[in-house]
Amino acid sequence: MWNFSAGPAQLPKTVLEQVHARLFNFQGCGCSILEMGHRTDEIRAVFATLEENLRTLLQIPRHFDLMFMQGGGRMQFAMVPMNFLQETGCAIYCVDGTWSKGAQERALRYGQIQTCSMGADPFARATAEHAYAYYCDNETIHGKRFACTPRKHGARGLVTDMSSNFLSRPIDWEEMGLVWAAAQKNFAPAGLTVGIVRRDWLNMAYSYTPTMMNYASYAYGHSMPNTPPVFQVYVAKLVTDWLLAEGGVERMDRRAKARSQLLYDVLDQYPDLYVHEVPRAFRSRMNVVFHLPNEELTQEFLSVARQNDLYYLEGHRSVGGIRASMYNAMPIEGARRLAFVMKEFAKKV
Ligand code: PMP
Repeated sequence: MWNFSAGPAQLPKTVLEQVHARLFNFQGCGCSILEMGHRTDEIRAVFATLEENLRTLLQIPRHFDLMFMQGGGRMQFAMVPMNFLQETGCAIYCVDGTWSKGAQERALRYGQIQTCSMGADPFARATAEHAYAYYCDNETIHGKRFACTPRKHGARGLVTDMSSNFLSRPIDWEEMGLVWAAAQKNFAPAGLTVGIVRRDWLNMAYSYTPTMMNYASYAYGHSMPNTPPVFQVYVAKLVTDWLLAEGGVERMDRRAKARSQLLYDVLDQYPDLYVHEVPRAFRSRMNVVFHLPNEELTQEFLSVARQNDLYYLEGHRSVGGIRASMYNAMPIEGARRLAFVMKEFAKKV
């Protein structure tokens, strides 16, 4: 079965096998990791290894702190302005899809928000009055991504939502203030959100910010201001072990390009059947989104796909159509199979 779900999504098979094999007895402790206290040496070591693995994979400079949080993406929509907006009371948001729009709408409650849209240089207007410049690196629903990291210009730094392409491309830390990602797509099961923050961006939160929404609580408290999601962190650690063994983030980037190209080639070959609206320069490598001319053909396509073992290809409920999500764990064979089925379908209808 090939799983094209947008999230929660496919995890590497070897990671699931390790979880399965070790579920009842974690490192000879005699009990499951699901039953262990988070302040034990074993669990602290899992957190520390995950942090070191991420530092290696993404070449995170030492003046950035890592934070393992809960609350998912939408909690970040509020945490970002609560923690960073006070400095100038104003920020700029690049709005180019559902998730950046959601973040911008939430931020409006906390200060003055200007907007811009995706393009070659979205933050060209950013000045020192902008406490940060916010964007979503990969819009999961619309299948759009930034081809390269935008420049922050006058803004103090970028805040980047990488929920659906975290660990699939290198990060330009020079521009960044905060990178955050909800884990459930490319990293771990739902329930974990990772944040990587410049240390000198901490301690600027509005005084009304709850402790559990203050980044400093996580950065200074080893991500344990309360009971953390130990199991999710453990799976994330296994995923990063796997990524290191597989050759790292650049390798993932190349694989993602190869996988998505197989599908984009078919879309370009049959543009009347597979309608695709994202400009070439912004095509996502994680989520290939298109639609067929009518609902009947869409349902027929999905049914043929299922007969060929290709599952969860339905587009997001807000836009319909088809979405093929292919994160790091998707082998190239999955993309090949889908491309083949798409071609065969196009020849028949
Ligand atoms: N940002 C992006 C890019 C997303 O794809 C999603 C959807 N998971 C979110 C934010 C919202 O995440 P959550 O469902 O955890 O609130």
